[in-house]
Amino acid sequence: SDSHFPIPLSPSHVDYSLHYPQLFPSSDQINGSKIQFADIGCGFGGLLISLSTLFPETLMIGMELRDKVTEYVKERISRLRVANPGQYQNISVVRTNSMKYIPNYFEKGQLSKMFFLFPDPHFKEKNHRRRVISPHLLHEYAYVLQVGGIIYTITDVEELGEWMKSCLENHPMFEALSQEELEADPAVKLLSTATEEGQKVARNGGQTFQAVYRRIVPAS
Ligand code: SAM
Repeated sequence: SDSHFPIPLSPSHVDYSLHYPQLFPSSDQINGSKIQFADIGCGFGGLLISLSTLFPETLMIGMELRDKVTEYVKERISRLRVANPGQYQNISVVRTNSMKYIPNYFEKGQLSKMFFLFPDPHFKEKNHRRRVISPHLLHEYAYVLQVGGIIYTITDVEELGEWMKSCLENHPMFEALSQEELEADPAVKLLSTATEEGQKVARNGGQTFQAVYRRIVPAS
């Protein structure tokens, strides 16, 4: 349960020296840069690892509920750091329930990208409130995303894909990226290929459904 992991009181209490020790030698956030990408339900961390070298100047974090999986990702990152000196210093992972604690980690307008790759489907109608994309949670994501920031979603479950798309489509603070924008965005190419779940779906020849939306200022 939640009592087994620490929860920062506010974003300024997130200890960057624990997550990015080479970039933040002390716990004061004097360096000034903040986490900009969040991979929600990061699983085994494949996306973070691909993004790390694609955006070497950007701090990113994976949020994962399962303890053992989180420990695996931590270990995976520290091995990569040892094997590749100076690289993979910008990625980390935290064990937390993203449906409850996003505002404890990020301030208003802090994030430029949020990723939701192959989230759990929660098929039954009564469990839809447990989905990581919902009208309610989109308000929270809109709060922590900067204007122009992007939410990336992908799933192999058609019904969930429709659900995520319609939640985003109907929310006043998000608009869909155009086809040209999708093609020009290097992060979009990773959605179906970089994670362990995406690779499994690809091996099995499964179809995927993605929705990629930008945080906008709602028309008044
Ligand atoms: N994104 C990864 C991928 O594409 O390989 C993992 C996909 S896996 C199907 C969904 C992940 O979300 C699981 O690792 C699960 O533990 C995590 N998860 C589910 N609910 C969560 C929550 N409330 N907070 C954080 N992680 C959560």
